[in-house]
Amino acid sequence: MTSQRTRDRLVTRLKEKGINNVDVLAVIRELPRHLFVDEALASRAYEDTALPIGLGQTISQPFIVARMTEVLLAGIPKKSVLEVGTGSGYQAAVLSRLVDRVFSVERIAPLLKQARERFYQLKFNNIKLKHSDGSWGWPENAPYDGIIVTCAAEQVPEELLKQLAPGGRLVIPVGGTGGQSLRVIDRNGNTFEETELDAVSFVPLLSGKI
Ligand code: SAH
Repeated sequence: MTSQRTRDRLVTRLKEKGINNVDVLAVIRELPRHLFVDEALASRAYEDTALPIGLGQTISQPFIVARMTEVLLAGIPKKSVLEVGTGSGYQAAVLSRLVDRVFSVERIAPLLKQARERFYQLKFNNIKLKHSDGSWGWPENAPYDGIIVTCAAEQVPEELLKQLAPGGRLVIPVGGTGGQSLRVIDRNGNTFEETELDAVSFVPLLSGKI
């Protein structure tokens, strides 16, 4: 149930749902998503659904990962990307195959530890992790060509805009319990242009670290 055929079927489904970027599709075909969830859920890893990863958090639905990655990488330089919300590490792993360097921050220590172990075992060498509240970004490595937030913010954190390189792009779910939508914010010099995309459903961005 974690076979290549199962993965191929997922990729076919993502294409049907409108994912066009062949590089993104190739990475999803190749990556072992079943190693990013608990063993008991491995048989469901190639279904197009979000799955629990413990501590009230989820690994995002493959379609959402593909969609956000495709949108993020369209037209930006692919040197460095910051992710807020490491979770299982799957989104960071997808990005690490498509950009030179990935930085990812997570507020829940045990999730970060587990992701770190996965990256070590799977030999992902271009991902740097930090235990921190991602509302503050990761200023030491800024600016970033792309920033992707995988939890929903009530408002776009100002710090993330500051850490975006000119010509860079931020993809972030915005909204509260009333509903969220995916926003794309492009930086041109010091002006920011915002586009609203699909309705989405993410766990909330929370402040502080635990
Ligand atoms: N990208 C992850 C999705 C995990 S769910 C994956 O591929 O599995 C979103 C994650 O965001 C959760 O792990 C949650 O703890 C984290 N999160 C929420 N608020 C945060 C914050 N302020 N800073 C960093 N991480 C945060």
